[in-house]
Amino acid sequence: MIQLSERLLAMEESATIAMAKKSRELKSQGKDVISLSLGEPDFHTPDFIKQAAVEALEQNFTTYTPVPGYDDLRDSISRKFLRDNKLSYSKDQIVVSTGAKQSIANLVLSLINPGDEVIIPAPYWVSYLEIVKVAEGIPVVISAGIDKDFKITGADLEAAITPKTKMLMFSTPCNPTGSVYSKAELQDIARVLAKYPQVIAMSDEIYEHINFIGQHESLAQFPEIYDQVVTVNGVSKAWAMTGWRLGYIGAPKAIATACDKVQGQFTSATCSITQRATISAMDADPSILKDMIGAFESRRNLVLEGLRKIPGLKVNQPGGAFYVFPDCSSYFGKSYRGQTIQNSDELCMYLLEVGLVACVGGAAFGDPNCFRLSYAASKETLQKAVERISTALAQLR
Ligand code: PMP
Ligand code: GLU
Repeated sequence: MIQLSERLLAMEESATIAMAKKSRELKSQGKDVISLSLGEPDFHTPDFIKQAAVEALEQNFTTYTPVPGYDDLRDSISRKFLRDNKLSYSKDQIVVSTGAKQSIANLVLSLINPGDEVIIPAPYWVSYLEIVKVAEGIPVVISAGIDKDFKITGADLEAAITPKTKMLMFSTPCNPTGSVYSKAELQDIARVLAKYPQVIAMSDEIYEHINFIGQHESLAQFPEIYDQVVTVNGVSKAWAMTGWRLGYIGAPKAIATACDKVQGQFTSATCSITQRATISAMDADPSILKDMIGAFESRRNLVLEGLRKIPGLKVNQPGGAFYVFPDCSSYFGKSYRGQTIQNSDELCMYLLEVGLVACVGGAAFGDPNCFRLSYAASKETLQKAVERISTALAQLR
């Protein structure tokens, strides 16, 4: 009899990945499912990056690399931080990992003792909470609803801080809401953090380039808290490189050294070829992403227009990333063929089975009134998806 660990049993499966798996299964049974469940760009990796990977293979970059990444890759990330974020991180403050997901896991394992509290503003990205639980930390969820554009204030943060607080974890632009923190809003959070130097903030900025409202702002820009912030980023989103698996952090040196140590025992460095290819992405001028960002923006507008016409859905105006997170609570208690919808997970199951559109229920993101829809798909597909959602919801009585 196999006895799995309590740690594993306490962990939830990733809801985004579970929903993507379910929609792939239905597709393989011949069902015409539109999958808007996974946060993955539908663009291809740019050719110049692919070319750099081909050259790396030809030049036999095929062996183990330094655990935190090649020196020249970390130099290129250091230049990127300075160019795009005005952040100064030297090579030894940078650790490259097998995706930002691993960067976050390294960080939590490096900082959290059992019983330490981690403040996670909801809605949050699904994996934050589960990674904290694996490290036996205590997630302290503070909610910011749609009326606050899903963003917390410094006062919200301060009200949740206790002597046991060790970390704050959040993303801007945010997955799943698309909300973007302004400089003034980050300044307000920085003001509070500065009063609690034992609290380390993880600022997940993996969607930095997918921003429709102007300049991306980094939390680490405020000198008074620079030593308390770990900036997480990666190539999955902006450079359409989800399968290549590369994320990175810029961190205080002691934290970077700790993450390097964790990684040295768990996985070693990420793929050598991915690392060589990423140098070309880091050195590229991000203005070449303009067309892709424009495409995301016009898809966002199309989806918002469609969703806002559906009675009972409440939608914010996401300023970045490629998600919308509508509040669907007015449908709870309604039924279809004798089955009553109680929450957004059940509503998503209904949308999948009856509407043939896969989204993700909000509970896994810390807000069970909402569901997440990823609009990283063509306009035709999105148009069809919104029509299907509208038709399915109209059948609920
Ligand atoms: N952070 C956020 C907010 C995300 O949406 C994702 C999803 N890809 C990640 C981190 C992890 O990205 P990856 O592991 O692909 O670099
Ligand atoms: N981060 C993406 C998402 O939120 C990819 C899936 C995952 O890594 O969980 O859908």
